[in-house]
Amino acid sequence: MSEGLITVAYIGATILFILSLGGLSHPESSRRGNLFGIIGMAIAVIATLMGPRVNGTLTFGIILAAMTVGGAVGVFAARQVKMTQMPELVALMHSLVGLAACLVGYANYIDPTAHLTGAEKTIHEAEIYLGVLIGAVTFSGSVIAFGKLSGKIGGKPLTLPGRHQFNLALLILALILGKVFLGAEHANDGLFPLLAMTAIALVFGVHMVMAIGGADMPVVVSMLNSYSGWAASATGFMLNNDLLIVVGALVGSSGAILSYIMCRAMNRKFLSVIAGGFGTAGSSSAVAAAPVGSVVAINAQETAELLRSARNVIIVPGYGMAVAQAQHTVCEITKILRGKGINVRFGIHPVAGRMPGHMNVLLAEAKVPYDIVLEMDEINQDFPTTDVAMVIGANDIVNPAAQDDPGSPIAGMPVLEVWKAKTSIVMKRSMASGYAGVDNPLFYKENNRMLFGDAKKMLDEVVHNLL
Ligand code: NDP
Repeated sequence: MSEGLITVAYIGATILFILSLGGLSHPESSRRGNLFGIIGMAIAVIATLMGPRVNGTLTFGIILAAMTVGGAVGVFAARQVKMTQMPELVALMHSLVGLAACLVGYANYIDPTAHLTGAEKTIHEAEIYLGVLIGAVTFSGSVIAFGKLSGKIGGKPLTLPGRHQFNLALLILALILGKVFLGAEHANDGLFPLLAMTAIALVFGVHMVMAIGGADMPVVVSMLNSYSGWAASATGFMLNNDLLIVVGALVGSSGAILSYIMCRAMNRKFLSVIAGGFGTAGSSSAVAAAPVGSVVAINAQETAELLRSARNVIIVPGYGMAVAQAQHTVCEITKILRGKGINVRFGIHPVAGRMPGHMNVLLAEAKVPYDIVLEMDEINQDFPTTDVAMVIGANDIVNPAAQDDPGSPIAGMPVLEVWKAKTSIVMKRSMASGYAGVDNPLFYKENNRMLFGDAKKMLDEVVHNLL
C-alpha cells in the first residue's frame, strides 16, 4: 500500500474514532458509536499491516501470531468476566497500554538501526523518556487500581508521613535522570538513567493510587484512562505513527474531561484527589458521627403495597443492583407500575456502581426506556414530591452524611436526597457500609424502611406480590 493510501486510511480511521466518541455520549447512539470504533480500528490495523513498516513475511507472520494470541486472550477474558468485574478489567487494560508504552520505549532506545543525530536524536530521546515515564506510572497505578477495585487491596488511603515531599523528591529525581539520559552519548550510557527513572515512575504510580481512598476511586479510574491515552500518544511519537498520536490524544483528552466531570460530581478538586488522603480514619468523624437509633425492616409484600399505593416513584440503583444482576427484574417492576398509571423514574448518580456509566449500561441492557432515566441534577429536586424512593443496592450515593457531617470522608459529595421522599426503601443484604466504608444515617431515618436480602431475590418477590 502506498504512503498516500495509508494516510487516507488513517484519516478515515480518525474520523470514525471521533464519530465513535460522539456516538458513545448517549445510550441510544452508543451501539452505532461502538460500530464506528470497530470499523475505524479494523481500517487502522489493515492499513498498518499493509504499510511499509511491515516488510517481509516473517514480520507479517509474527504480527499475525501476536494478534491471534492477544485476540484469543481478549475473547476468553471478555467471555469470563462478569459485568461486576468490568471496572477491574478496564483497569487491567489500562495497565497493558502503559506496559506497551514502556516496552516500545526501550525497544526504540536500543534499536541498532536508528542512526539519528543532533536535534533529531534529542527530540526522539525526549519522546522515549516521556513515553516510558507515562507508561510506567500508568502501568503500576492501574495494577494498584485493579487491586483496589477487586477488593484485593483495601480501600483505605495509604497516607505516609511526608508523602507530598516524597512525591516531589521522586519528580526531582526523574528530572535529574532525564537530564543525564538526554546528555548520554551512547545507548549504553543512557540505559541506566532510563531504568532508574522507570523504577521511580513505578513507585510513583503505586504511591499515587495507594494514597487515594474510598469514594475518590472513580476519579482514579478516569484519570488512568486519560494516562493510558497519553501513553499511547507517546508511543505514536516514538513510532512516528500519526494515527496513534491522534487516537492517544483523543483517549487522553476524553479521559481528562471525564476526570473533571467525576470531580465535579463529587465536589472535589482534581489536584486534591491526586494528592490523596481523603477517607482516612483520622481525618473523618465516621466514628463520632455514627448514626444511632433503630431501623425498620419490611418485607416484599409491604414493599409491593407501598409501591402500589404510590403515585410517584423514583428508583435509585447502585452497585448492589449490578452484583445481584437485578436490572431485568427492576425493568419488570417498572413496567408493572407504569401499567398501573404510576409515574416511575430513575435517578442516576454519576459515580453509582464501579465505573462511569455503570448503571446506564445495565438499565439499557434491560431495555428500560431512556426517557425515564434521569441524571442526579435533573431529579434531585423532585424527591419532596415523591411518594416512594426505592434504593436498590446503593449506599454511598444516598448517604445524607455527605451533606450533614463535614468530617465525613464523603463530605461535600452531592448525593441523591432520597430521604426527602415520603417513604424511602433501601434494599440491601445487611447493614454493611458501601465502597467508602462509611455508616449511613439514612437507614435510621423515621421515614426509611429496610428491605433486607439479595436485590434480585427480593425484587422477584416484590414482582410476585405486585401481580
Ligand atoms: P456502594 O458501594 O456505596 O454500596 C453498594 C451497596 O450494595 C452495599 O452497601 C451492599 O450492601 C449492597 N449490595 C451488594 N451486593 C448486593 C446484592 N446482591 N443485593 C443487594 N444489595 C447488595 O455503591 P453505590 O453505587 O451507592 O456507590 C458507588 C461507590 O463506589 C461510591 O463510593 C463511588 O465513589 C465508588 N466508586 C465508583 C466508581 C465509578 O466509577 N462509578 C469507581 C470506583 C469506586 P450489603 O453488603 O449490605 O448488601
